[in-house]
Amino acid sequence: MTPLIPGRRSAAFACGLLALLLGAACRDPVPGAPPAPPPPSPAEAPPPPPAHLPVVIDLHTDTLAQAFSRGVGLDDPDLEAGLPALRAGGFTAVLYADWPGKRTQARDRAGALLEFAHREDARLEAMEIARDPDHLQAIVDRGHLAVVLGLEGGHGLEPGGLATLDRWFEAGLRVLGPAWSFSTRYAGSSGDQGGGLTEEGRALVARAAALGVLLDVSHLSDAATLEVCQSSAVPVIASHSGARAVHPHPRNLTDDAIQCVAERGGVVGVVLHAPFLGPGAGVVRAADHADHLRTVGGEAVVALGTDFDGWIRTPAGLASEADLPALWAALGDRGWSEAEIAGMQGANFLRAWRSVWAARTPDPATATP
Ligand SMILES: [Zn+2]
Repeated sequence: MTPLIPGRRSAAFACGLLALLLGAACRDPVPGAPPAPPPPSPAEAPPPPPAHLPVVIDLHTDTLAQAFSRGVGLDDPDLEAGLPALRAGGFTAVLYADWPGKRTQARDRAGALLEFAHREDARLEAMEIARDPDHLQAIVDRGHLAVVLGLEGGHGLEPGGLATLDRWFEAGLRVLGPAWSFSTRYAGSSGDQGGGLTEEGRALVARAAALGVLLDVSHLSDAATLEVCQSSAVPVIASHSGARAVHPHPRNLTDDAIQCVAERGGVVGVVLHAPFLGPGAGVVRAADHADHLRTVGGEAVVALGTDFDGWIRTPAGLASEADLPALWAALGDRGWSEAEIAGMQGANFLRAWRSVWAARTPDPATATP
């Protein structure tokens, strides 16, 4: 018998055979019925989770001041933490400190360095100034270098104080150290064994928290470090410090301070200035400081803040950002997991910044007193 519709008959036959073999029902279309919906196309399938590139960040370099004073760009190959050295070391982000120098004309100098950073941002395709944690991740994901701006010393706010902080925030400043190597009207410094926070310092800390600006205790006195940390509801960071138990230098953190920073969800960036690391400063000594931070504060507290381009004495084998893979390898040899090393490289800092940013209350009218 000649089939009326040969194609359909053979299709029905194939279906029957398959049903026999697989135990499945045939889904022959009913004449006149609308066609069965097609299987979901890949475009309708739920999107895969977004893939992010790793954030590998140095939490403190003085490259802005170094390049500015030399009259070179941030892409100068001779800088310890310029764009070429960062790329060579596998970095995807950096905190460029705005170091306002000595006491006089500090605000003008701080402003000049912020302007310099923005001119370089406009000139250099490869770098972008990060406004917030998501923006930082997006910059990294598009293969550019994310730059976070931080002020190294509250004297860079004077004159003007809180009003200047608001101005610098508008200019992209996201990290604030209330003092550098000398005490300010805000806080005592480790450089002159200063005291804790002043009344103005407490107001500054509150304003920084409202803006979502990270507080950096690296240069503060022991008293001010603990006061800032203990009074903070959000993570604080020590951008470039070592562990005092490993080497007794006043710029290094006591175990009490490390624990406090860890309890608040903050990070301590291991500094690479040789006198802070101690005798025999090199890769091994830097790893000793990282190990101690992890022992006292847990793996989530560890970060990196080299102080490159800050006219420092670099440790043996760590002359620029390009050499940092040697430190990651040394930590791996000591049994650090890939996740722990990735945490130190940037994941820990990003988590801390997200937390501070999420808690901000930038409108003074709605800010908690
Ligand atoms: Zn410093």
